[in-house]
Amino acid sequence: MYEVTTITSFSGAHNLRDYKGKCENLHGHNWKIEATVCGENLDKTGMLLDFTELKKIVGGLLEGFDHQYLNKVKPFDKLNPTSEIMAKYIHDELKGRLLCEHPKLELSGIKITVWESDRQYAVYHE
Ligand SMILES: [Zn+2]
Repeated sequence: MYEVTTITSFSGAHNLRDYKGKCENLHGHNWKIEATVCGENLDKTGMLLDFTELKKIVGGLLEGFDHQYLNKVKPFDKLNPTSEIMAKYIHDELKGRLLCEHPKLELSGIKITVWESDRQYAVYHE
């Protein structure tokens, strides 16, 4: 099994809804997003997926979040902006964009890790 990972970061503020504790208050993180695609088969050049392409797609789906108050940006105006929910959202968006732009790509899975600090992260994969 091969894995290809790209790491992207952005700064964004949020506060958690329906939560009692420090994180119900407005605060910010330097978010780090690790996007990993997994698969058994390489293309004829010997790549699972070009890093440049993965980076472009992940960058495109995160660009609206940088230096924003995430609770006011779709879909987090409705969804609670926890690391777990962000990871699933990024997973589903990336999966959709990869299927659309690379219909022949045979991936076994996508794994998204959302770091909200150096010591805390949440992961989503199917
Ligand atoms: Zn937070």
